[in-house]
Amino acid sequence: MSATSADLLFTPIPARINRLRDIAYNYWWAWNPNATDLFNRIDPQLWESIYHNPVQFLRNVRQRNLIAAANNSTWLADYDAVVIAFDAYMNRKDTWFKRTYPTEKSTIAYFSAEFGLHESLPIYSGGLGILAGDHIKEASDLDLPLVAVGFIYPQGYFRQRLDHSGWQEALYSKMSFADIPARPALTPDGNEVVVDVELPGRTIYAKVYHLQIGRMSLYLLDTDIHPNSPADRDLSARLYGGDHELRVAQELVLGVGGVRALRQMGIAPAVWHMNEGHSAFLVLELAREYVAQGVPFMQAFDMVRDQAVFTTHTPVPAGNDAFSLDLIDKYFAKFWDQLGISRDAFMNIAMQQQSWGPSFAMTVLALRLSEMHNGVSKLHGQVARSMWQWLYPGKSNDEVPITSVTNGIHTSSWLAPTMRNLFDRTLGADWYEHLDNPATWQALKSSDDGEFWQARLSLKRTLVEFVRERLAQRHTRLGFPPVAWPMFDDTILTIGFARRFATYKRATLLFKDADRLKAILNNPARPIQMVFAGKAHPADEPGKHFIQDVYRRSQEPGFAGRIIFLEEYDMCVARALVQGVDVWLNTPRRPYEASGTSGQKASLNGIPNLSILDGWWPEAYDGTNGWAIGTEQEYDNLDAQDWDDAQHLYQLLETEVAPAYYDRDASGVSARWVAIAKAAIMTCAPKFSTQRMLKEYVNRLYLPVAKS
Ligand SMILES: *Cc1c(COP(=O)(O)O)cnc(C)c1O
Repeated sequence: MSATSADLLFTPIPARINRLRDIAYNYWWAWNPNATDLFNRIDPQLWESIYHNPVQFLRNVRQRNLIAAANNSTWLADYDAVVIAFDAYMNRKDTWFKRTYPTEKSTIAYFSAEFGLHESLPIYSGGLGILAGDHIKEASDLDLPLVAVGFIYPQGYFRQRLDHSGWQEALYSKMSFADIPARPALTPDGNEVVVDVELPGRTIYAKVYHLQIGRMSLYLLDTDIHPNSPADRDLSARLYGGDHELRVAQELVLGVGGVRALRQMGIAPAVWHMNEGHSAFLVLELAREYVAQGVPFMQAFDMVRDQAVFTTHTPVPAGNDAFSLDLIDKYFAKFWDQLGISRDAFMNIAMQQQSWGPSFAMTVLALRLSEMHNGVSKLHGQVARSMWQWLYPGKSNDEVPITSVTNGIHTSSWLAPTMRNLFDRTLGADWYEHLDNPATWQALKSSDDGEFWQARLSLKRTLVEFVRERLAQRHTRLGFPPVAWPMFDDTILTIGFARRFATYKRATLLFKDADRLKAILNNPARPIQMVFAGKAHPADEPGKHFIQDVYRRSQEPGFAGRIIFLEEYDMCVARALVQGVDVWLNTPRRPYEASGTSGQKASLNGIPNLSILDGWWPEAYDGTNGWAIGTEQEYDNLDAQDWDDAQHLYQLLETEVAPAYYDRDASGVSARWVAIAKAAIMTCAPKFSTQRMLKEYVNRLYLPVAKS
């Protein structure tokens, strides 16, 4: 459905407040809580029921509610302030990029299989997608010349429910395009952009949609169009939904179709950034273009390499996409002719031996055909260098040309409004402009402890409400008796654990010695409660068993009321948790966590991390800003690793974490705790922001590549 006809389905908006439409059609609102609050206040019930989607809201809101808002002077004042802020943002000229590189004209194309922008657009599965979403939001803040390309997946990633026994159920539902702030992308001549890609025995078509993310454009492909066959229409229906064959076909459409989409729009990137290997087929399309212009194959590959940047995200070997040669034969049979090379030469570009045989590996393809490559934390850079050393014969580990740019988070998207107010009062009006400078944060240190404590407490109260509400919904749905409150309490030290339930993240590590944990959680002087959330990939049986284990534990005497599993970990649940708990727990099996970003979100909000020294945490932990579980020692024996880590975790909870939290003065404040929480903010907020991260990508990767 085209956007113009979608607009007609809006409830008529009074002229005085008709900029609501512009705001709904720009994801700028997703990181401006004042903007979403406007919708919420018009009709809170509707806002919840359509899950915080402004376009869907404007289609469903009653006109009398809009008229009431347009006549409410308090609401109008806030509306005017939001409109002014929005216009100022969009029209601003003295942005970081324009100031720093006034003559730079290169365009960067950023490709990713998933984008996490907001819970109302479920086209992300976890950290990789959230990172991509944060990347474009920050690109907008800094005003980079960047365009992003991905898939729209009308059925998205699944929604999670747990049945009576704690077994994960995956639900899919189809989004209506009229509810998405997407408009058909247009060519310079004003035609809709439809690309075609050759698949075995047929051509598949993908229509391209445009989403506005602040100043940035995100182009999303959709194959659910005429004249594709029903199976091809479903090709982009779901994120990570199919088997290997569907995966090859999807990645072919993303990489090859994505390049063709930009060409049709007259966009000529100087830098092509592949966020993970899913989009790496794009380099083959770029090479094919050169060969078609008469450039010899070897030279074409050199030219492509000079323009490409690749970020690898997974130190788990099985997490790297690799396809059997049969599949590549089937899908690329025409491609090697077009490149002017033999089948064997083609296969050799990306050949990797797997335990199951030779494969065409997307990470190998991307590494071979990019100029700059990086891991996503210092530790992950090291791991990636040894993992891919075999590709660089004669080079020692340290010489392998894979660098690292540590991930960060988009500050506005993850910062609780309560904390923002506190920062505004403490750090000065323009702190956001300089948030990657550690000096910006110094004033926090001497700020009022009581005020800080109260801010954190109020955020915990909000979380307790949220948890109770979600739990009550679950009980109603399953016909369970109503929850007997109080069982989740704002006076108790609260630990959060939320992430994808991939087994290397070891969600069940905490239960190694269940009796000791029960004693810790039920210590009458220093009680602790825990909230868990997370999805397992629908095909990950061990991951689903981990969820069930945690759920069953949460029902057991001694844990019931102290441990809660929240369904449907998404960006909304993530915000509630990384803003509302007291401690953020992370127990991956080192060194499998490439970076991890949820702990960065927690730190930003004054929630210290209690984490294994994996991913980003070794770069952040300094002895004052949280706790490190275990050491940097490597283990061969995994059981020994689990046991040692669990023992140390219990010890930290008993002797450090709980004593610090409950060490109260006469006014109920723990100065010891506040010092740790402030240190978490002061050390992590500047360094693990996308502001720092994107400046690094620009200075160290994008611009050097653009110049070569
Ligand atoms: C931040 C985030 C993640 C990534 O967190 P990790 O620490 O990398 O596990 C995953 N899912 C959601 C919904 C998030 O908000």
